[in-house]
Amino acid sequence: KEIVVSGIRSTGFLHLGNYFGAIHNYIRMQEEYNCYFFVADWHSLTTHPDPKDLRGNVYRVLAENIGSGLDPEKVTLYAQSDIPEIAELYLLLNMLAYKGELEKVPTFKDKVRQNPENVNAGLLTYPVLMSADILIHKAVKVPVGKDQEQHLEMSRNFAQRFNNRYGELFPEPQAFTYGSQLVKIPSLDGTGKMSKSENQMATLYLADDDDLIRKKILKAKSDAGPTEMNSQKPEIIENLFALMKLVSAPDVVTGYEKAYNECTIRYGDMKKQLGEDMVKFIAPIREKAKSIQEDTAYLQKILKQGAEKARESAAKTLGEARKLIGIHYY
Ligand code: ATP
Repeated sequence: KEIVVSGIRSTGFLHLGNYFGAIHNYIRMQEEYNCYFFVADWHSLTTHPDPKDLRGNVYRVLAENIGSGLDPEKVTLYAQSDIPEIAELYLLLNMLAYKGELEKVPTFKDKVRQNPENVNAGLLTYPVLMSADILIHKAVKVPVGKDQEQHLEMSRNFAQRFNNRYGELFPEPQAFTYGSQLVKIPSLDGTGKMSKSENQMATLYLADDDDLIRKKILKAKSDAGPTEMNSQKPEIIENLFALMKLVSAPDVVTGYEKAYNECTIRYGDMKKQLGEDMVKFIAPIREKAKSIQEDTAYLQKILKQGAEKARESAAKTLGEARKLIGIHYY
């Protein structure tokens, strides 16, 4: 079976972008591939989370993944920090990563702009740690959203550089989705992507209660209606349709598309419909995740079991990497 790796940072509540960019693919992939999925707790440290919150965030990410349909019996599910081999591979790969190329990464530049007070080396070398996460299991496919496409290109570069310098070890990992293109779930205010750590009213979380879901959708940016057709940028209208296509029945979507083309659309109605369909989609995941999250003993068992399996695979790769580099003395 082909090897798959993917991770989600423990930076807060999971949202629809995480679901459709990542988890949705995980659930299908678990039937066909040898999957390693992890909670990226080290990656979350770039923003210095309160130690009191970290543990709860890790449990939540785990519970929300399982609540969405991920089966810990079918995949290896673990916390990144339980695999010290990843940190060692990260150190080794850092020697092959150049400061200039890391500084040019658009997500790094964004973070510098957003928070110039905290431009730490962890932030700069984020793509190197991400590459270590992937290469440690010699993964060939990585289910991610569109926002990670460029990081994966860097992972391929690092793999290639290692192979060229020391000998063939790593396959080149490819971003993967079942659809024809990587997914980007837009935020409800039309300004970017949904994200755990940005505008909370513009992001739909898997933990949102029914009324909050309805409220957020009603507040989403859209045209005022038939009288002011296309007064907003078309991408914003696209956003509502994009969300509707994910959760509403196909005939409902076609109905609104027709109304849009005929200039008879009422965005208020469309939002109400989308709100109800979204509630139907999110509520069962939320409730399941909630009950799983309360069962700490169960989550701890999964983490321990997953760490054991993941370390086995990680230790094997790291041993090979050390040997190729020349780190073997007795
Ligand atoms: P943060 O806000 O902390 O940066 P995030 O919400 O962007 O977090 P990550 O933990 O960095 O999420 O990413 C987890 C996975 O979810 C990745 O595969 C990423 O590509 C995917 N993802 C995140 N946001 C979106 C989105 N809006 N659309 C599609 N995929 C997304």
